[in-house]
Amino acid sequence: MIPSSDKPNLLDLGFHELETLVTGLGQPPYRARQVWQWLWQKGATDPEEMTNLSKDLRKALGEVSTLVSPRVLSRLQSRDGTVKLLLGLADGQAIETVLIPERDHFTQCLSTQVGCSMGCTFCRTGTLGLTRNLTHGEILGQVLVARRELAQAGGRLGLRNLVVMGMGEPLLNYRNLITALESLHHPQGLDFSSRRITVSTVGVAPGILEYGRTGLGSLAVSLHAPTQELRAEIMPKAARLPLDSLLALLAQYPLKSRERLTFEYVLLGGVNDAPEHARELVRLLSRVKGKVNLIAYNPSPGLPYQAPDPGRVETFQKMLWDKGVTVTLRKSKGQDISAACGQLAAEAAGQERASD
Ligand code: SAH
Ligand code: SF4
Repeated sequence: MIPSSDKPNLLDLGFHELETLVTGLGQPPYRARQVWQWLWQKGATDPEEMTNLSKDLRKALGEVSTLVSPRVLSRLQSRDGTVKLLLGLADGQAIETVLIPERDHFTQCLSTQVGCSMGCTFCRTGTLGLTRNLTHGEILGQVLVARRELAQAGGRLGLRNLVVMGMGEPLLNYRNLITALESLHHPQGLDFSSRRITVSTVGVAPGILEYGRTGLGSLAVSLHAPTQELRAEIMPKAARLPLDSLLALLAQYPLKSRERLTFEYVLLGGVNDAPEHARELVRLLSRVKGKVNLIAYNPSPGLPYQAPDPGRVETFQKMLWDKGVTVTLRKSKGQDISAACGQLAAEAAGQERASD
């Protein structure tokens, strides 16, 4: 549970809710746009910083609302420049977000839940179970924190792409996810285009098609197995939506022109990485317009899986390629700090609380 405060956190309001709050204080609607800019463009941390508002309005905002963003509890930097941030939330929960350096920009991996209820057997977050959904302000607060971190570090790369592939199953926090994506697009706010946003899901109905209809970002589907039987073994809860039904849903997914679905396939050594799996995967994907993103498993302590043999990865990739399937191998960054997207479990949070 989030501690109850009768005052809303300004970061938890979508634009229209903020407008309602501001006009409720007797102010004209354009004031809401100014406040929005302070929150999301200028990263204000207190209404008193909003210097183009009257003193009275700043005071009133301070009285009727709070302004709380996640705070950085710790940061780990990998040899390859990947940064993993452990963030503390208002109720003492912790989540992780990862900043991944690319050639000319950073990609940030966002969390949407504290833990995850899906319990995929290879995933660290899955071992935690679900504690709660993140709010609008907690999802987007990760972006505010990242921008601050990058500005302080003074590097030349800016934050450009967002992947919703951190802790949690985004489509099971559907309403907050969608409001957060809408806010991300706001031209007076964070101003991210839908081409720069990807949401990753194990496949949840009906959310998957509803999300598609919003056009707010692209879709990546965590497939990880080419048969229902194997999928049920490694992702028991996700597989309650049978593979056939998932594919049937995806065949109806409203793709924009030239857009394709991305299928994530984590190669688990000796489990789903054999040539027969590659052949079955090719057959399965003939039903949809998609490309495959192979990811070599990043072993996690306590979980019964191993990284795939590099030779098997190569063969798997080549077999897809030879059958005309577009396939990329995601380079696992931040391996030395367990910062693979989806490998997040906020283990340090427990340690931190234990040492309080
Ligand atoms: N719940 C969503 C989004 C978060 S997980 C989903 O599952 O799609 C993001 C991705 O990271 C998923 O494809 C997940 O399977 C993958 N992943 C999880 N643990 C991993 C690990 N140890 N190594 C590599 N990829 C992992
Ligand atoms: Fe949840 Fe995704 Fe991990 Fe599965 S892989 S347990 S859906 S975060």
